[in-house]
Amino acid sequence: MEKPKLLVYDIGGCEGCPLSITRALPQLTNVVDVYSSHLGNIDLDKIYDIIVVTGSICINDPVKVELLKKLRDKACILIAYGSCASVGGITLFCRGGQEPKPEHRTFQAISAVVDVDYAIPGCPPAPNLLVSLINSLKMGRGYFLQLFASIPRARKLSGFDLMDEIVLSGLCIGCGACVLSCPTHALHFVDGKPDLIVEKCIRCGTCCARCPRFTQILVRKYAPKPKLLSR
Ligand code: SF4
Ligand code: SF4
Ligand code: SF4
Repeated sequence: MEKPKLLVYDIGGCEGCPLSITRALPQLTNVVDVYSSHLGNIDLDKIYDIIVVTGSICINDPVKVELLKKLRDKACILIAYGSCASVGGITLFCRGGQEPKPEHRTFQAISAVVDVDYAIPGCPPAPNLLVSLINSLKMGRGYFLQLFASIPRARKLSGFDLMDEIVLSGLCIGCGACVLSCPTHALHFVDGKPDLIVEKCIRCGTCCARCPRFTQILVRKYAPKPKLLSR
């Protein structure tokens, strides 16, 4: 049977996310035919079963905005890969020295411009998450479908949201998944509950996507009917 076609396209991030996908290529090529600039086989006139976009969109760059809309048109399923594409991440909130700059709104999650079917946060995400999502798409079921379909609708995820929604509201069970998942060590335990070192948080949202309590809320609040592969 013909494998689904998957295009990887970087719209404006660092090399971390494309590299993370490259690391997953041995597993990915078992389940999909991969097209990417690294493989030198991109054809933007084709329709793809899945397009994976990395990086955030510069909303002041009309060429990039049009390109992103074209990618949406060419994709049966559009996946935002990495925190920049999923929630804006470091490019939305930080400039130079990783200082928080909430007024800096030039770079946005791609869902600010187009409809996104699934988003996988992480800076960069663990490569096996994309493989797991594609396997769930092929089977038409699985936990990843609901979780990653809810994230584009949540729009923002960060250590600040984790503290507000889970820790300060008393829902935290002290499992430590958030602390272990944070790429910048912005979370640490104080009296058995996570606390945030605010200046270290790059708003990647990884902790929220790993927290068993937060993911329950995300799915309950935002999960749409998951869009599946048509074959
Ligand atoms: S999410 Fe992190 S690794 Fe991926 S493009 Fe953005 S800054 Fe780079
Ligand atoms: S606390 Fe860590 S994992 Fe959570 S958003 Fe901030 S940097 Fe990312
Ligand atoms: S992952 Fe969620 S439940 Fe677990 S310690 Fe962190 S905030 Fe608490």
